[in-house]
Amino acid sequence: MTMNEFRLRPDVLLNRLGVRRPSDIDLEAIAFHFGARVEYRSLESCAARIIGVDERAIITIDENSPEHRRRFSLGHELGHWLWDRGTFALMCKQTDLGETRQRGDTREARANRFAAELLMPRMLFREEARGRPITFDTVRYLSGVFRTSLMATSIRAVELGSYPAMVVLTGGRGRLWYWSGEDVPRYLQPRMVPGRDTSAHRIITGDFVATGAMEVDADEWFDHPDAENHVVMEDSVRSHGGSVLSLIWWKDESMLQL
Ligand SMILES: [Zn+2]
Repeated sequence: MTMNEFRLRPDVLLNRLGVRRPSDIDLEAIAFHFGARVEYRSLESCAARIIGVDERAIITIDENSPEHRRRFSLGHELGHWLWDRGTFALMCKQTDLGETRQRGDTREARANRFAAELLMPRMLFREEARGRPITFDTVRYLSGVFRTSLMATSIRAVELGSYPAMVVLTGGRGRLWYWSGEDVPRYLQPRMVPGRDTSAHRIITGDFVATGAMEVDADEWFDHPDAENHVVMEDSVRSHGGSVLSLIWWKDESMLQL
């Protein structure tokens, strides 16, 4: 299998390297395997950078960032190395390394996608997530296993967890971003402003810090012709800058089959 194939299937690469458990994912060893040396230094103007010359590269990661961020940065730079190989130099800022920016065909989105696939390989993630509800308890457990951030892990849990689910980020003025799993129909978008009975609303208005997972009427979250006849599960927590991160999932999938 060539490097061009590995960049599309990091899980195959890991399998080839003998990775059987999440703790086997040794990013420095993978970098070494592909001719890249990794250095940790204090970086001022970016979060990570890569300088490639022919078959060799030097990747520098900001040593001051937390472990899950350093790992995501290294996965991201390895994505650049496998995709853009050759002679080039890139400085990646924290905004390029956004875990929420994995969609699209830009160079940065591609590198983010690669990082998520490398750090949380499909098979291993599915195994760990199997049968668990899509809650922050589950996400915290998985982020410990894979050493990834709450945000990156939430996205993966929604993609690969055992229930149809989505993750929604809401700010004071309404929805900022959301991501749904493949088994959630595309037309189903969360309301711009979650209903008053949602824990997201209660957290934003200051009534609660966090509520834990709870059942809520589906029309609190969705404009859907049949929403009033359904419920969804919701778990919300306060996130950065006063925003709220919510996991929404369906125990009963009948609402998704219309
Ligand atoms: Zn980058």
